[in-house]
Amino acid sequence: MSETIFTKIINKEIPADILFEDDRVLAFKDINPQAPVHFLVIPKKAIATTNDIAQEDEALVGYMHRIAAKVSADLGVANDGYRTVMNCNKHGGQTVYHIHLHVLAGKALGWPPYQSKLKIE
Ligand code: AMP
Repeated sequence: MSETIFTKIINKEIPADILFEDDRVLAFKDINPQAPVHFLVIPKKAIATTNDIAQEDEALVGYMHRIAAKVSADLGVANDGYRTVMNCNKHGGQTVYHIHLHVLAGKALGWPPYQSKLKIE
């Protein structure tokens, strides 16, 4: 797999606004936020797309979600809630081919099919 910009962030070759780091994952603010809070959780292991997640990666992907919850709590948005998204390939809108969990929060997020049924406060 060819190196992506996220490998450069992991290796500290380019800067990022890092929110959490350990030996398995890195969480940092998205450079082009789509919500008041928008950060990414990435594995340090380079996996190109969600199609490439192997059985041996199952715990790692679960851990990414736990870190998403932890960082959301640290930022004070966990109780109100957030949305997690992983885009896959061109129809999914993936632009960086190193899997990443988007975490969007800080306001009530629209969800068109159900919007009319939701009571958003
Ligand atoms: P995706 O389109 O799902 O592949 O998402 C890639 C995300 O990476 C986009 O939301 C970009 O804004 C974000 N991104 C790209 N380069 C950087 C960077 N250097 N630092 C932080 N976020 C980035």
